[in-house]
Amino acid sequence: IVEMTDVSKRFRTPGGFGRRGAGLLAVDGVSLTVGRGEAVGLVGESGSGKSTLARMVNGLVVPTSGTVRTDGDDVAALGRRGLRRLRRRVAMVFQDPLASLNPRQTVRQTLENVLRAHGETTSTSELVELLASVGLGPDYLGRYPHEASGGQLQRVAVARALALKPDLIIADEPTSALDVSVRAQILNLLADLQRDHGISFLHVSHDLAVIRLYSDRVAVMQRGRIVETGPSEEIFRSPQHPCTQALVAATP
Ligand code: ATP
Ligand code: MG
Repeated sequence: IVEMTDVSKRFRTPGGFGRRGAGLLAVDGVSLTVGRGEAVGLVGESGSGKSTLARMVNGLVVPTSGTVRTDGDDVAALGRRGLRRLRRRVAMVFQDPLASLNPRQTVRQTLENVLRAHGETTSTSELVELLASVGLGPDYLGRYPHEASGGQLQRVAVARALALKPDLIIADEPTSALDVSVRAQILNLLADLQRDHGISFLHVSHDLAVIRLYSDRVAVMQRGRIVETGPSEEIFRSPQHPCTQALVAATP
């Protein structure tokens, strides 16, 4: 469902020194695929380019070179309308649910707005069903973000991602802002979605333990490159690259 071929992203660094080719090469010649229904984990140290790469999948970041095909479309060739259509099939869940939800909107408004933005209307019973699918009761419809816990808010963020029935969910550190006790709940919820609805996942995390449990395949990034990739268990059993070995060694 995702096919990235030799993609790079160079950011202009402010106040650069005028060096030729100056700027920060955040992603450096990466090729990566996510199969339909597959969950791929992207791990690596902070600053290795994981978020930048993940954001290319739905056109939030435009690669400097290389091609990204998502759900059959060449992302770079899409106009505004094409991107809109793509983003309805590719949802994102971010690290901090509080920051990603509008504090002035109730859960009902949040869900209705995303549907309306894509020209869809909805009934209360559909919204209740949507909330139930992420383990929240109907009473949450009337709540504002400050009236829910971090874990509950991340469930709302997942419900918002599900509202448009996506083929692919990009989850960028979806649990790192959460309490350890709610982390597993959210991860299990995402795993259920993959299993029961056949949704594909690109799951970014710096935590290999999380990826091991919830991803079929892992790609390890270091300084903008993918240095190792393979089935999760295999990567864990016999990591080849020093960077992967260090990650495995640091994982309880
Ligand atoms: P983390 O685990 O900390 O989230 P990451 O692997 O997601 O890290 P990225 O956010 O992809 O890393 O960043 C990769 C590099 O690109 C970093 O050095 C970062 O400072 C730089 N970078 C990211 N976004 C921008 C931007 N919009 N402008 C300039 N530099 C950027
Ligand atoms: Mg990141």
